[in-house]
Amino acid sequence: MIVDGYLYDRASSNRVTAHLSSRQNGYVLTTDGDSFETTIDIVSASPFINGIPQRLVISTGQTFVPFDELPEGFLKAKPTRFWRALSKAERFSPRNVIICIALLAGVVLSTRAALPTLADAAANLVPASLEAAVGQSTFEYFERWLLEPSDLSPARRAALRSAAEALADLRGMPEPPAVVFRNAPKIGANAFAFPGGPIVVTDRLVDVVGSDDRILAVMAHELGHVEERHAVRQILRAAGLLILFSTILGADEVVVEELSAFALSLGTSGYSREFESAADDYAVRLLGDAGHSPEAFIAALESLAAECKPQCGEESWFSTHPNIETRIKALREFAREPSGNTGR
Ligand SMILES: [Zn+2]
Repeated sequence: MIVDGYLYDRASSNRVTAHLSSRQNGYVLTTDGDSFETTIDIVSASPFINGIPQRLVISTGQTFVPFDELPEGFLKAKPTRFWRALSKAERFSPRNVIICIALLAGVVLSTRAALPTLADAAANLVPASLEAAVGQSTFEYFERWLLEPSDLSPARRAALRSAAEALADLRGMPEPPAVVFRNAPKIGANAFAFPGGPIVVTDRLVDVVGSDDRILAVMAHELGHVEERHAVRQILRAAGLLILFSTILGADEVVVEELSAFALSLGTSGYSREFESAADDYAVRLLGDAGHSPEAFIAALESLAAECKPQCGEESWFSTHPNIETRIKALREFAREPSGNTGR
């Protein structure tokens, strides 16, 4: 199959008459002036539209313009290097096409109203194992720099831990987070949940809050952060789509590193008001299901508020759990509601 046309040099209008033939292993070009054949590849071909001559860019960088429309099958006879490369190109994998569509949809939808919904949907894509890896890596950072072994008696720790485990059991959590006790002078009276666990309770919080049922209430609140995946959801809200795409596309180690950095910043900035209220609601309901009244939780919050009264500083539970009065008020209202008083 031989096609006649003009061969144009790169970026010039100099042309010679040439002949392009399709062979088993590629294309061969001959020109009227030369007696030898050149094996070439077709890099791209414009379609034949309404008599506009087709342009074939060939591997020498020259352009071949056939006199007539290319015969049927001339280009299909053998996929050109261009199309082979295209079909191999990773950016054309179905997964990446879907991601590109999601990116566009994300750009369109990422108004303030849509972002939380989008971030929560994205959180569903984050596997529990990845969440746990982020929690572990953040926890290790805290262990190295901020946490010391607990001075609480092993019996006290065991009693509190098994009470927390009973609550997790009640929720039917398949893998309940570990509850660990630590002495943490730099953090003060505090409790916090790492993504996927563990839950850390400081010795100072145990001292300040005092009774086991009140400490249990605080642990129930932290359990709420873990079960409802507030860390991952807040990280995704803060990091937006950027982290979403690196979560889908990136290597696991890089993603864990990136998410851990966000989780660490979460440690200082705290959860959003929305997630704090959600964890409070969760705690009150769960304590109710376990046969406790919300009063223990309110009392725990009040004792923590009193503890940090003179200067509710950076190192108090309230730097990461703000709006104490609002929360206590909400809890009191919750306790007054007939449906909210879940003392069954
Ligand atoms: Zn909280």
